[in-house]
Amino acid sequence: MIEINRLLIVGVGLIGGSLALALRKAGIVQEIVGAGRSEHNLKRAVELDVIDRYSLNFADEVSNSDIVVVATPVRAMNSIFEIIATTDYHDSIITDVGSVKKPLIELSEKFLDSSYTGLVPAHPIAGREHSGVEAACAELFKNKQTIITPAKNTGSHAVEKVKKMWLAAGSSVAEMDVEFHDEILSASSHLPHLAAFGLVHYIANHKNRQECFELAASGFYDFTRIASSDPVMWRDICSANAVPILQELNGYIRKLQEISTCISVGDIEKIQEIFKGAKNSRDESLRLNSR
Ligand code: NAP
Repeated sequence: MIEINRLLIVGVGLIGGSLALALRKAGIVQEIVGAGRSEHNLKRAVELDVIDRYSLNFADEVSNSDIVVVATPVRAMNSIFEIIATTDYHDSIITDVGSVKKPLIELSEKFLDSSYTGLVPAHPIAGREHSGVEAACAELFKNKQTIITPAKNTGSHAVEKVKKMWLAAGSSVAEMDVEFHDEILSASSHLPHLAAFGLVHYIANHKNRQECFELAASGFYDFTRIASSDPVMWRDICSANAVPILQELNGYIRKLQEISTCISVGDIEKIQEIFKGAKNSRDESLRLNSR
């Protein structure tokens, strides 16, 4: 069991707010302090009992917090780390929740002392298409996985603390190499979001747009649910993980081209083989993940 005296969450939105609620529910934090750009959001987070209080100048809160969780969109982390570097952060653990991990390691190399062992890059593989503190939920991480991708200097004491924090929030925890994380997530998470955004944008510009949307059934909404996700967050992920994403996107385009060729030459056996393989793989993966 972990005890946290003070937890500082920079970016009290869906993920930061859900972590606060989950840890509050677990009863392991004395005080949760929120920080962000907008006082309006932070006031709302206090009203919703997600945080105890907020600070508009989070630099003042870093040194007296046991753990600092950076939960902003990935590109905003640059300015956050620039501020953290001006503080006495050395005895605090700094972790994040960003969907891409390599940029975080690069930020730590740019802004933090090379002797600092308290940085723990982390990514909860949990989320939804809604954003902001209003969407935060204590159960978000229950039965989900959090991946920790330690940096060169990350100390085992810091990893253990952050691990315990995520376990208390209901998540299981695994460690992974940073490059491998970004490569796998580009296929399993980033590519599906691009496919959903791309499909809806295509239909939205279709000559029969109105009829397409009027006749859209649950299949369309199942496939495109994640196209309602936050555009800023996904813009940042595309830019932060461009190389692996382009590789997976090109592989997917080749697969669609293969299907297109099969349709144009009437190769119905091949089409059925691709669809059958896809169905079996999805059914099997669902079965394994729901165990
Ligand atoms: P969110 O709901 O939009 O929350 C982001 C928070 O960051 C907001 O409270 C925002 O508040 C604050 N913020 C934005 N820019 C800021 C800045 N420059 N300085 C300080 N605060 C700033 O987004 P989210 O879904 O929680 O995502 C947060 C992080 O979690 C992202 O890095 C994302 O990659 C990662 N993640 C998301 C999911 C998901 O499914 N959503 C899953 C796993 C990981 P203000 O506007 O008031 O500043």
